[in-house]
Amino acid sequence: MEVIVAKFGGSSLCDSEQFKKVKDIVLSDNRRAYVVPSAPGKRNSGDYKITDLLYLCHEHVEKSLPFDELFKLIEGRYTILCSELNLSIDILKYLRELKEKIINGASQEYVASRGEYFNGLILAEYLGYEFIDAAEIIVFKKSGRLDEKATYDAVNKRLSVVKKAVIPGFYGASRDGEIRTFSRGGSDITGAIIAKGVWALVYENWTDVSGFLMADPNIVSNPKHIEEVTYKELRELSYMGANVFHEEAIFPVKNNGIPINIRNTNNPLEKGTTILNDKLEVKVGKITGIAGKKDFTVIAIEKTLMNRHIGYLRRILSILENNNVAFEHIPSGIDSVSLVIDDAELDNKLDIILEEIENQCKPDSLIAYPNMALIAVVGEGMIKTKGISSRLFSALSKNDINIRMINQGSSELSIFVGVENEDFENAIRAVYKAFEN
Ligand code: ASP
Repeated sequence: MEVIVAKFGGSSLCDSEQFKKVKDIVLSDNRRAYVVPSAPGKRNSGDYKITDLLYLCHEHVEKSLPFDELFKLIEGRYTILCSELNLSIDILKYLRELKEKIINGASQEYVASRGEYFNGLILAEYLGYEFIDAAEIIVFKKSGRLDEKATYDAVNKRLSVVKKAVIPGFYGASRDGEIRTFSRGGSDITGAIIAKGVWALVYENWTDVSGFLMADPNIVSNPKHIEEVTYKELRELSYMGANVFHEEAIFPVKNNGIPINIRNTNNPLEKGTTILNDKLEVKVGKITGIAGKKDFTVIAIEKTLMNRHIGYLRRILSILENNNVAFEHIPSGIDSVSLVIDDAELDNKLDIILEEIENQCKPDSLIAYPNMALIAVVGEGMIKTKGISSRLFSALSKNDINIRMINQGSSELSIFVGVENEDFENAIRAVYKAFEN
């Protein structure tokens, strides 16, 4: 039978009203067989995410500070939820046990994982689905990485005999039973693993927005909605998807050709955005989306006859590698190369990197330019289509925006431009206007 894996994020499960919506969604399609919940998220902007509170409790104990008040907030959230949903689960017993464990020095990952664990127990009872502890089927290696073979073996074995189940997101366990978690937002990864393990028809990811928009709505008013985006396009648009969908959750499903459908729990009739390997129809000349991010630094390096120096670039890149710094782009000229690096990645290592390049590569000129913003214009409809870049650049020049860097992805799927941080919002609006139709 065809099955759907449905993952619900923290905002979809933040209170009993949201749980009711989730139940309606799950029960409205019999194929929604495996449900992966996050921990309860914020109910309003002044509220706390349960996971954040759990991390804080653990931190307080580590620092020998009292954590009773924090724990009461967690207790309050779960007890209200269970009573409003009329459940029989003895959630206070579970909470008491957790408190004991926190006091006795339970690991940070164990404590953080309980947000999903409790929510899973509650949702399972509420839906009438079986509860499967993720610790039984999501297997981590000692290093903290996923043990793929052991995980998929366990998922296949366990789920082949359970037709409907709730499996909490975000955590699993190593073979010796120690609870481990993915990085923040990692319930998306659990959902993707389950979807791959059961060869789901589709992996539904339910959140509080109806998928992706062509541009950031905080910058462009009423941007168009994206109905379909390919996995490749989404990678190029990664500055856009970052807070909607966990990047690492793409890989398990992508390779098996399982589409991801981002849906809105508060508006289930909307189709959302589907992420897939190939679109049925590529709209030639159209772009799929525009995404961008501020705060990059460009390290510009010049050296006469650089093109003849065998291994010159390798030496530069090994300096980044030794400092554990990833780069975003490396546009180059005949005697020059620039390293475009995210400031968050660069941290406070700029001086040491410059010093090492100076000493080891002896450039003629070495300058760091801060405050650059990157904008990605992405779409399969751009491939082998004339006039796209002229539209892009004339939109920027008409709006008096100076372009500091241009980089076209080798597949013609994306064009990246670098502009001053202060021009960022205007540039996004100008590009959107040029391509909205
Ligand atoms: N609850 C975890 C977090 O807040 C994981 C998730 O929600 O996906 O990061």
